Amino acid sequence: SKKYIATPSRTKELLNKYSFAFKKSLGQNFLIDVNVLENIIHQAGITKETGAIEIGPGMGALTEQLAIHADKVVAFEIDQRLLPILEETLADYDNVEIIHHDILKANVEEVIQTHFEEGQDIHVVANLPYYITTPILMKLVRDQLPVTSLTVMIQKEVADRMAAVPNTKSYGSLSIAVQYYTEASVVLNVPKQVFMPQPNVDSSVLKLVMRKEPPVQVDNVDFFFELIQASFAQRRKTLRNNLNRFLQDKFAKQQIETFLENAAIDGGRRGETLTMEEFASLANVIHKELP
Ligand code: SAM
Repeated sequence: SKKYIATPSRTKELLNKYSFAFKKSLGQNFLIDVNVLENIIHQAGITKETGAIEIGPGMGALTEQLAIHADKVVAFEIDQRLLPILEETLADYDNVEIIHHDILKANVEEVIQTHFEEGQDIHVVANLPYYITTPILMKLVRDQLPVTSLTVMIQKEVADRMAAVPNTKSYGSLSIAVQYYTEASVVLNVPKQVFMPQPNVDSSVLKLVMRKEPPVQVDNVDFFFELIQASFAQRRKTLRNNLNRFLQDKFAKQQIETFLENAAIDGGRRGETLTMEEFASLANVIHKELP
C-alpha cells in the first residue's frame, strides 16, 4: 500500500533527505494525519468534478489528497526550497500545478481563468500560514473570486471570531467583515498533535461559503465598515460613546442622537449587541448626512 505524505514517517524521511529546516516566519506547520485531511476535503465539498486552489502546499500533504479527490489542483507556494520536494512527492499526480508565488501578490482571478474550465465549481482548501490568516482570507473574499467556498485550517481563536454571532465574546468587526461576503461556520476543531512541528495555538477548520448577494443593502461599503470598526473601538463603552468619538469632527451630539433614533437603535447598547442589519441601517442613515 501507498505511504501518504501526511504521515510522521514519510514527513521525517523527506525532512532528512532534503535537510529541510522549518521556517517559523513562514508559518510552516505540516499536517501528518490523513484522517484530518480527508475530513477537511469532505467538508470542503471536493469531488472529481471540482477544482481546488491550495495556499501553501508545504511538502504536499494536503495537495496529494486533493489530487486524489478533485479534478484539478492549483497550489501557491512562496518557499522556493519546497519546489524540488513537491516535484518528488507529487510526481505520480498529473492534475497538480504548483505556482511559486506569494498568495498576497498573486492575481488569483487570472490563474483561475487559465487553469480551470469555464464555470467549473472551484473550492479553496488550505492549511494556512497562521501569520497572515486574516489578510489572505480578506483578500480572497473581498475580490469576489469565482469560487464556491473556502475551507481553511486556521487558529481556533480567529476561526471563532470570523464565525461569531452577536452577543458573544468573539463577535466583532472581523465577524461582520467576513460574514458580509460569506456564510461562515467552524466545521472542525483540531488537536495540536496532527502537526509537525506542533503550533503554539489551537486550530480549527473554518468553512466560508461565498454569498451571491450581500445579506444587507449598504449605500457605501467603506463607510459601513468604518462605522463598525469605530463601534467596537472601545468594546466596554456604549455605542453612543464610540459614535460620538468617531463622528465628533462632523456632527454635534444631538445630531448623533437623531441618527440613532432614525435607525431605531438604543445608543446605550454596546456594539457587540448589534446585528449586521442594524449596522447597515445606522450606516445608511448617517452616510446620507455626511458633509
Ligand atoms: N499544506 C501543507 C500542510 O498542510 O502540510 C503546509 C501548510 S503550512 C501551515 C503553510 C504553508 O504556506 C507553508 O508551506 C509556507 O511555506 C506557505 N506560505 C507561507 N506564506 C505564504 C504566502 N505568502 N504565499 C504562499 N504560500 C505561503
